[in-house]
Amino acid sequence: MILLLFGPPGCGKGTQAVFLAGRFHIPAISTGEMFRAECQAGTELGKQASSIMAQGGLVGDEIVNAIVASRISKADCAGGFLLDGYPRTVPQAIEFSALLQQKGLPNPVVIHLDVADDLLVARLTARRQCPQCKRIYNLLSQPPKLAGKCDDDGAALMAREDDQEAVIRQRLRAYHELTGPILEWYGPSAVRTVDGGKAPDQVTRAIQQAVEAAQRTSAE
Ligand SMILES: [Zn+2]
Repeated sequence: MILLLFGPPGCGKGTQAVFLAGRFHIPAISTGEMFRAECQAGTELGKQASSIMAQGGLVGDEIVNAIVASRISKADCAGGFLLDGYPRTVPQAIEFSALLQQKGLPNPVVIHLDVADDLLVARLTARRQCPQCKRIYNLLSQPPKLAGKCDDDGAALMAREDDQEAVIRQRLRAYHELTGPILEWYGPSAVRTVDGGKAPDQVTRAIQQAVEAAQRTSAE
């Protein structure tokens, strides 16, 4: 079982990745973790990637692909794996497909968590943080007991710079520009779109059903 998970920032993708990993007994691998592990291990790839990142550059497709190839060759991926944040470009998707074919692995199940931009903006602009203890609140889903004050220390809650509407809209645009072509490349027969705007446990159920439906299709 090879799962690819796509979803906009703020859609709860990380939580769903953890759930899927547990449900299907596969590791959930994010590109961030993969890079950190490779850098810590001090491999040649890790050294190349960390020197590029240290200069503030974007690590190129070739290195990213090589790190993914190395990661999915590890023993814990023998029964499958979930990738979160990869492929990030169409060339990466093409290379990843070639890699799977080379290894005799099945096509990935592509899960697309679809959430309307306006809903994400409403959710994210409702976030508040305590400047003292850094606890995060959400005026819609997890409000403080007293309006505007941290439950733990009474400090005045603040909206973070990252949670301003303009910043969020910009991140969403970047996400759509990157991800749209990748989903198109995989095509409607491979991509399972799940409504990610519902409550987290409903989203979880919908994802599970989508994965199981994809498994049945590929078994036929
Ligand atoms: Zn606090």
